[in-house]
Amino acid sequence: MSATTPLYYDEPELYEFKAIILELREHPGTRGCEVVLDRSAFYPEGGGQPADRGDIAGLPVTQVSKDNGVILHRVSSPCEELPDSFVVGAEVACTVDEAWRRDYKQQHTGQHIISAALLEVADAATVSVHQGAEYLTVEVESEAISEAQLEAVERRANEVIEADLPVKTVWVTDADIESYPLRRKPKVSGSIRLVMVGAFDCVACGGVHVSRSAEVRLVHCIGVERIRGRVRSIWKTGDRALADYRLKCGLVRELVDTFSAPAPDLAAKIRAKLDEHNEVARRMGLLERRLAEESAVRLLSTRAKPHAGAGQDGAADIGANDSKAGVLTAVFENESKGFLRQVGERLAAESGIAACLVNRKDDSVEWCIAVSPDREFEFNAFRPELLRIVDGKGGGKSPVWQGGGSEADCAEALFGAFSKHMG
Ligand SMILES: [Zn+2]
Repeated sequence: MSATTPLYYDEPELYEFKAIILELREHPGTRGCEVVLDRSAFYPEGGGQPADRGDIAGLPVTQVSKDNGVILHRVSSPCEELPDSFVVGAEVACTVDEAWRRDYKQQHTGQHIISAALLEVADAATVSVHQGAEYLTVEVESEAISEAQLEAVERRANEVIEADLPVKTVWVTDADIESYPLRRKPKVSGSIRLVMVGAFDCVACGGVHVSRSAEVRLVHCIGVERIRGRVRSIWKTGDRALADYRLKCGLVRELVDTFSAPAPDLAAKIRAKLDEHNEVARRMGLLERRLAEESAVRLLSTRAKPHAGAGQDGAADIGANDSKAGVLTAVFENESKGFLRQVGERLAAESGIAACLVNRKDDSVEWCIAVSPDREFEFNAFRPELLRIVDGKGGGKSPVWQGGGSEADCAEALFGAFSKHMG
């Protein structure tokens, strides 16, 4: 198999080209077919840079890799399902996704500049990089980098971008390499490709780059993390940095409106609001517990007075004490989730109690059954009837069972069925 002639080094701005199909290979891992061309402007994955995207004769290219000088273009269709135009010897029109390439050229060249600035400003040598779909990460040998140092690194990198330095590549041999101010030792030998950003940075690299530093536009560090005892900095680079800036400006504008505070005061204002909210939630919890306790006590007091009046005080419609079955019932309106359980648990703590509680919502209902452990009750025997009446679900274990349903007006039927079951 003859090697593919790569076009991306000599013509980095070439996005449309024609090529001859030399071979079609079934990819062993996926069902996709790998197309071998005589020449290609598709950059294959490598050197920390993702592969190009685009299409061959209209079929999307999902991955590009290199195997012994042969560039493999993976398409989503299996070989046997390819269109008729895909035959060995045929000429096909190919398109490289320009926006995708532009983004990764910015990421990649931006990374060279950031790594050089990290070394110059913070004496931090790069050990690994990753170009992700969202951001770029640069991991350095240092155990720590101060906030001030990172700011200086970012400033230096953006100065280099603004200076609009030419980005040049040269091929050199091992013998010549000594005369170049390399940022780090190359990992390969023989014929080596060097990439230089003006006189600022020189490093061995096989990737594709912008042709002038100003094309990187902007780099901004959005965070750092410690990993394996080293510092990994996270960057927004190029158009991504500007899009990120736009997004965050929009967010800040929205927060300024919502909290009626100028941007510099937002963090303090939001923290104060959260503290306030937590205090209100704490007070609400206390009041709800108190209300549940009072509701339970009131309900218990009806035991001594059979057929006590219903719903005379407050939101709770308490009463309907069926003395024969010894069943307590109550209807609440729009109480919070958990309230019924608190009432139920309080009731079941007394002896001889069987209670059925309902919390009515606008178009649904929550139910709770509480039976003291000293009373006989088989929940599973009552369950089918209960769920049919409330048109819902639920369960639990002694002494409290709980659930919900869509039958908002089920209280009377439910109480009747429960009393009958207990009687
Ligand atoms: Zn590079």
